Amino acid sequence: MASIDDRRITKDTYRDHLATVNEKGGRNWIYPKKPSGRYYKARNIFALFLLAFFFAGPFIEINGQPLLMINILEREFVIFGVRFWPQDLHLLVFGMLTFIIAVVLFTAIFGRLFCGWACPQTIFMEIVFRRIEYWIEGDASSQIRLNKAPWTTEKILKKASKHAIFYGMAFLISNLFLAYVIGKDAWFELVTDPPSQHLGGLSAMIIFSGVFYGVFAFMREQVCHFVCPYGRMQSVMLDNNSINVMYDYVRGEDRARVGDRKKVEAGKATLADLGFSEDTSFGDCIDCYQCVKVCPMGIDIRNGTQLECVHCTACIDACDHVMDKIDKPRGLIRYSSENAIREKERKIVNPRVIGYSSVLLVLMTTFVVLMSMRSDLETTILREPGTLYQELPGDRFSNIYDIKVINKTFDEVDYELELVSPQGALVSLGNVTSVEGQSISEGRFMVQLSREDLNGLQTELIFQVKSNGEVVETVRTGFLGPAN
Ligand code: SF4
Ligand code: SF4
Repeated sequence: MASIDDRRITKDTYRDHLATVNEKGGRNWIYPKKPSGRYYKARNIFALFLLAFFFAGPFIEINGQPLLMINILEREFVIFGVRFWPQDLHLLVFGMLTFIIAVVLFTAIFGRLFCGWACPQTIFMEIVFRRIEYWIEGDASSQIRLNKAPWTTEKILKKASKHAIFYGMAFLISNLFLAYVIGKDAWFELVTDPPSQHLGGLSAMIIFSGVFYGVFAFMREQVCHFVCPYGRMQSVMLDNNSINVMYDYVRGEDRARVGDRKKVEAGKATLADLGFSEDTSFGDCIDCYQCVKVCPMGIDIRNGTQLECVHCTACIDACDHVMDKIDKPRGLIRYSSENAIREKERKIVNPRVIGYSSVLLVLMTTFVVLMSMRSDLETTILREPGTLYQELPGDRFSNIYDIKVINKTFDEVDYELELVSPQGALVSLGNVTSVEGQSISEGRFMVQLSREDLNGLQTELIFQVKSNGEVVETVRTGFLGPAN
């Protein structure tokens, strides 16, 4: 079990050490002190709204469609009530690209604001699971004591109840996750039908529950360190103008403990006696380690911006408490940028931000144009697989086709199909001429052409799909005929 001194990472070593890994490569378990303060309060309120939204999400509908559904297995995607079909893959890819550039731009300006305030991992870990742990096992020092203590009835009860609640929460999150993936109706069937009817779905539920339990009970900050790709990419997205949780080293250094300061001020010791250099000038940091003790990532923010920092703001609150006590202005640790601290200059608009913004603008415009060009109906006509042409009386030939019409609107649409080139007969074989909103209609028809209209083995057919007398789509396909 590592004390804060065991994992103390100094200015010289923090770049090649992880606070959560000990000398032998084992895990240094982090026991962050319970945070309190204005930022923690604000984060709690914001997290409550987000949690309410997360849990309500699968049940919110827009025009009868879920707010969000990402069903990869069934290839059903609904984003903000708009259903995307497999045929809209290019739109999804474009939308994803736009989203990624927006994230990069946001990060270049605001650093990891998302991680601290809105990331589900941080919210569930710090606001839900960590709170349960504080409630059952007490603050950091009580947790350390409990873990060192022998297995008494009290310890067994505390550990068992904590892990039972953790598993219950993980089960809840797993259900929520499934509802987002398969939709609320399929999820409801999964939990209400006899288990034998949904063995696959129930297995997924149990696996996801186990994964979430493992993440929040054991992996914790390791997910942010090693699994999250967003965290790993921070170093390439941030620059000296990005806003981060930062220690104001200009104001804080040289740091010294209160006792040492008093000794020097009272003339009871010289700077050299206490190991300071002769040119030491005390700053506002009293080296009390409160900012380190509250950090759920186990780092010392005074070493500068670090990959592990998730911007949870706990160190800001802790240091503000200290500043209040020693009668110094708050904000020794605060949201700021390297340039703002070093040069006293805050510059949000810089060439990088302008570059990202320009790319984002182009992508957003293209995405909007593509969305507006997205046709309401999408028709596919294919010659029936495995069939050849049929010879008809009067030197005529026929091919049979399958037609599939996707209606991307929310209303029922009537349509008619017309063969515009070459001239020929279109014979319906039980074709459907209307398609319900957000669904697909399928049918079959036959095309009959005279020999003089054929162009050898393959003749191109051009169809028009009309709705309310207007051409909504032109579809091309091939007609198989005799070679001569
Ligand atoms: S350094 Fe501060 S903001 Fe960053 S993770 Fe630690 S406590 Fe949170
Ligand atoms: S809490 Fe503030 S004063 Fe204390 S060590 Fe951290 S930065 Fe220095």
